Amino acid sequence: MRVYNFSSGPSVLPLPVLERAASEMCDANGTGQSVMEMSHRSKDFKPVIEKAEALLRRIMGIPSHYKVLFLQGGASTQFAMVPLNLAGVEPGEKRKSASLVETGIWAKKALDEAVKYVDVAVRASSKDAAYNYIPAAPAPRADDAYYYICLNNTIVGTQWDALPKTGAVPLVADISSCILSAPLDVSAFGVLFAGAQKNLGPAGLTVVIIRDDLIGHAPSWTPVMLRYDTHANEGSLYNTPPCYPIYIMGLVLEWIESEGGLPVIERRNREKAALLYDYLDASTLFRPVVKPPYRSIMNVPFVTGDDLLDKEFLAAAANAGFVNLAGHRLVGGIRASIYNAMPVEGVAKLVAFMKDFEARHVSR
Ligand SMILES: *Cc1c(COP(=O)(O)O)cnc(C)c1O
Repeated sequence: MRVYNFSSGPSVLPLPVLERAASEMCDANGTGQSVMEMSHRSKDFKPVIEKAEALLRRIMGIPSHYKVLFLQGGASTQFAMVPLNLAGVEPGEKRKSASLVETGIWAKKALDEAVKYVDVAVRASSKDAAYNYIPAAPAPRADDAYYYICLNNTIVGTQWDALPKTGAVPLVADISSCILSAPLDVSAFGVLFAGAQKNLGPAGLTVVIIRDDLIGHAPSWTPVMLRYDTHANEGSLYNTPPCYPIYIMGLVLEWIESEGGLPVIERRNREKAALLYDYLDASTLFRPVVKPPYRSIMNVPFVTGDDLLDKEFLAAAANAGFVNLAGHRLVGGIRASIYNAMPVEGVAKLVAFMKDFEARHVSR
């Protein structure tokens, strides 16, 4: 029996995608091979990677002056690639500057990596309140090489509701946990990146969407694999790409189109989030960690206020088939990640289970 999987990542995939992959496991598209066994330079794999890119471009409305790169190393490798490629300098040259808004642990990790290469200023931070809100974003400084944000903060469950206005300074966003959750104006950004394992497919693939003019500026000492131009010049085939995750992402993108595209996906995601937040706001046992308007529609953290009771709930929920609801190891509590592939019915059933747990707890 399939469980309802609320994991923050790797996370639930659409069942039709898994079933299709299973049916094509040993013979993909009449080739007599699994996609895992194909040469990445073969005529059999070419349509797989081309279809994945074309679908992503169409669904997200990616303009033609942006490249789509299929890389490895997770979103975490982008924490180094972004500063190296957008603001790295040759030895002896004056270091460049950048702005960053610190909205959580992933933004902090990006900061810690970037300061090795760039003078990054933390322009605003919500660290004072355990990152449970999005601070007002100051304007960039004129000489900033880029302006960095994490659009959806997976661990604490906050999300930017309006983008900072950065003018000519390229806006860079980590969209690992919100890519394809709703329409996004790609042209507002210089670089977007996402690890695939939240809303796109399996772990092992990182998608980078980068404006053409930002490619080709890495300093000469940059490792070849960490240069955007290396991958852009070779159509993501400089070395072996993560072939199978690219194939699964292609199936996920087909599924999104068959469901009606991002407007339908967004409506469904808002419906799921509202089910959960409305209940949490009314509950006398559980309380949400984040207040409007900063609430993520992808990651919903909540607590009872009693660690032992949180653990009791997590065990009871797992027993009833609602799994991976534990909060991030650094913050504890409970977190329901309700990515695209989580059906409305899964959230409705979780809420019914929570109501029942609350009734049993409050009456005892
Ligand atoms: C999961 C996550 C990461 C880390 O991704 P990896 O692919 O494991 O490196 C970075 N940023 C955000 C916002 C995430 O949700």
